[in-house]
Amino acid sequence: MEDDRFREALVAQMRHEGSLRRPDVARAFEAVPRHRFVPGVTLEEAYADRAISIKSDGGETLASISQPSMLARMLELAEIEPGHRVLEIGTGSGYNAALIAEIAGTSAQVVTVEVESDLSEHAREALAACGYDNVRVVLGDGREEVPGEAPFDRVIVSARANDVARAWWQQLRDGGRIIVPLDIGAGGEYAVGFTRYGDELRSVGVVHCLFVPLRGELGTAPPERVFTRTLDVRYGSQPRPIKSILAVPTTAASPELLERADVVVAQPQTTFAVTWG
Ligand code: SAH
Repeated sequence: MEDDRFREALVAQMRHEGSLRRPDVARAFEAVPRHRFVPGVTLEEAYADRAISIKSDGGETLASISQPSMLARMLELAEIEPGHRVLEIGTGSGYNAALIAEIAGTSAQVVTVEVESDLSEHAREALAACGYDNVRVVLGDGREEVPGEAPFDRVIVSARANDVARAWWQQLRDGGRIIVPLDIGAGGEYAVGFTRYGDELRSVGVVHCLFVPLRGELGTAPPERVFTRTLDVRYGSQPRPIKSILAVPTTAASPELLERADVVVAQPQTTFAVTWG
């Protein structure tokens, strides 16, 4: 079929650029018909490596189908395995949920939460029409727990946040992994992959990203409490890439965190100890 060739070309391009390496992630991009999640665009547009706005309000983009190469990098960080239970926050078009479902396989359960009812309905229809019976689309606020579904092996947040909600930790099993696009006021927007060790999240990788903000308090910027180890770090003119982040619940954070990090950002729910590269 014609759309197969477009998908193969996109996968070849992402492989060439280095955003796609894992065979399971590549197979998912080859399989999911992206054009069926953004009706009304040509195949060229649907398989270009670009985000496409799917809902806006007065010039502000509320939702978009994410850029494939950015999703590829995040899905590689996630290391989803067959049979995993995966929670996605921010269904949007449903495209990423379909990619996750391909990687996790038919025996897995994917739960995806969307706050906009029209998007949720469209995504549910598109996922069903493409045969993704193992994806449950939930209408609701992703900052809250989904009743009766935890624990999850993976949590993937598909909107920009400036904090890690307690509900996300609580739904993630110990040893599980969360990928969250974070802008915490210390050097730009990064999708950070963390593994949970009890009450600590330790980063396993960081990739640049660009997302629409999560609606509600975790998406809009509260006045961050930023602490730096040295004045040089505070006033240094060069933004430095993030090397690693250790995150703990803010109720459990202590000043000693600064001894192990360059910058500590204490957000209302989670405190981030950031080490620069
Ligand atoms: N994964 C999507 C991209 C989503 S864009 C895709 O592949 O197409 C981000 C989505 O998050 C938008 O649809 C937006 O409506 C949704 N969103 C924003 N705030 C939210 C919240 N608090 N809870 C659930 N969904 C939210």
